[in-house]
Amino acid sequence: MTKVQPLIELQEIDGRIRELELELKDLPRRKALEEARLKGLEADLKAAKASREYVQNQIANLEAEAAALKEKISGLRTTQAGLKSNKEYAQYSMQIDLVSHDLEATENRQLAVMDDIPTADNNIKVAQEKYDAEKTGVDASCQVITDRIALVEGMLKEAQAERAEKVRELQGPEFSKMRLYYERIKTKRWPVVVPLTGEGVCGGCHLVQPPHVAQMVDRNTDMVACTMCGRILYRD
Ligand SMILES: [Zn+2]
Repeated sequence: MTKVQPLIELQEIDGRIRELELELKDLPRRKALEEARLKGLEADLKAAKASREYVQNQIANLEAEAAALKEKISGLRTTQAGLKSNKEYAQYSMQIDLVSHDLEATENRQLAVMDDIPTADNNIKVAQEKYDAEKTGVDASCQVITDRIALVEGMLKEAQAERAEKVRELQGPEFSKMRLYYERIKTKRWPVVVPLTGEGVCGGCHLVQPPHVAQMVDRNTDMVACTMCGRILYRD
């Protein structure tokens, strides 16, 4: 058995920890992507509602305009009824005609704008349906991701406990020395402990090792590092 077998066992646990940590970093990003899918549809729905409101406001304005014109006509008629001269009476008739014309035009515009209501309503309905359908899917995906985060967090905790246990179990001056070196390389390279191939090539950086390095690995009395990348070498 290779001298660095304890490090290989530690590395196996560290490999799992690394993968779990990577996944934990990636999961919130995936959740954000899911939520972003809804943003566009939410904006479409908002625009459809605003468009409906615009039509409604136009109708209200025209209604107010028509009411004012009706009031004007009724005022003119009241005054006209009290007039004595035929000439003045005729002048008022002409004015009433003009305002009545305006009123008719306003009411026609009102009817035309009201024709836009069904289209505006339907646009809202379509946008709402699209949003609701997408939201159901997004909510489901987000729930799956939330559950996965909880699971991975649990698995990570277990792996970290397992690592602490492994370190306790392997303690001793020789292991402590090897582990110190392992931890240092781990911050820069992964994996740290790699096999030396039959041709004497480092399994990490693929550099061919000088013959004496390969011989030292085969002697298996000390921990041997790659002359290029510093990874710990062992013979399979
Ligand atoms: Zn190397």
